[in-house]
Amino acid sequence: MKAFAYVNPANEKEAVAALKIDGIALPMAGGQDLLARMKDYIDEPDRLVNVKGLDATVTGTPDGGLKIGSAVKIIDLYESVQVAKLYPAINAAAIEIGTPQIRNQATVGGNINQRPRCWYFRNEEFVCYKKGGSRCFAVNGENQYHAIFGNDGPSHIVHPSSLAVPFVAYGARFRVVGANGEREIAAADFFTMPTLQNVLKENVLGDEDILTHVILPAPGNVKSGHYEVRYKQSHDWPLAFTTVVLTMNGSRIGSARVVLGAVAPIPWRSKPAEEALAGKPLNDQTAAAAGEAAVSEAKPMSGNAYKVQIAKTAVERAIMNAAGLKTV
Ligand SMILES: Cc1cc2nc3c(=O)[nH]c(=O)nc-3n(C[C@H](O)[C@H](O)[C@H](O)COP(=O)(O)OP(=O)(O)OC[C@H]3O[C@@H](n4cnc5c(N)ncnc54)[C@H](O)[C@@H]3O)c2cc1C
Ligand code: SF4
Repeated sequence: MKAFAYVNPANEKEAVAALKIDGIALPMAGGQDLLARMKDYIDEPDRLVNVKGLDATVTGTPDGGLKIGSAVKIIDLYESVQVAKLYPAINAAAIEIGTPQIRNQATVGGNINQRPRCWYFRNEEFVCYKKGGSRCFAVNGENQYHAIFGNDGPSHIVHPSSLAVPFVAYGARFRVVGANGEREIAAADFFTMPTLQNVLKENVLGDEDILTHVILPAPGNVKSGHYEVRYKQSHDWPLAFTTVVLTMNGSRIGSARVVLGAVAPIPWRSKPAEEALAGKPLNDQTAAAAGEAAVSEAKPMSGNAYKVQIAKTAVERAIMNAAGLKTV
């Protein structure tokens, strides 16, 4: 690992100022992703700016929602009674992340901003688009864990954050501070589809920006569900997963937000599934039809067509979970 400076700012303002250097400065939270990248020579920053000292609380907002500090650890997010009560899909996603050790160290901000898990990206020998190169090795290489939606390239990653998906589904906003002050960005607009111009990043944050809070609106009259499919029970990312948030109109679904994870470069909102749900009774037939609709536009790569069935099942079971129906 290359030698680096370490800065421990007292507040947001100092943290932003510490990111402005002639060289590479990166925020470090729990270090569960960043330190691994540094050990593997994927990133070689000149300075790390500790952001674990930023807000680590979960507080209520005047409208009945929640404001979650970016330094909240994943275990504390999971153990928050308010989160579990108001946003059960976030609670369900949090407990599945990594291992107890990771959940006790990693933070909400770091989870949202973690970099892709593509094995070519994580290997210093492969200089792909995401590392300033001019090709994607996954296209003709090993792509069984890559995208099945949004596959126009140039990169075919799946976004690695489990929390990003329920945050988008619940309509969260992210508060960001940077050199030009603070701003709020809808979670749905935060993550970026890759283009040749922006492929080095996965979101809209600038080099001197820090995500400080996740702000969740009051959930309203919704039922929500979450379902993840993995090869094994723990220690790994899901193959596909889904959060659904259903706004109910009596016993029927008024409108729906269906967001899939681990299937596209961003948390993938499925309009076909949402249309299949609107106006329908909440039952297992509706769930099955929405699962079919969700994958109707899938474009798998050479080695990951198997993920289409898994994504379909994740959507169907997330809806059944929202309905309180048994999934197995
Ligand atoms: C075996 C294993 C299994 C895993 N399974 C899952 C899983 O199922 N789901 C999942 O979501 N994750 C999974 N992870 C990844 C893990 O959850 C993330 O690495 C962790 O959440 C990152 O959080 P952190 O606080 O340690 O971030 P760090 O490593 O400190 O930072 C991650 C990145 O975010 C940037 N960053 C950190 N904080 C901020 C901020 N406030 N504003 C702007 N940028 C910031 C850093 O510069 C860095 O680039 C797994 C990891 C392992 C090792
Ligand atoms: S999928 Fe993205 S990260 Fe992986 S090799 Fe292709 S360009 Fe690189």
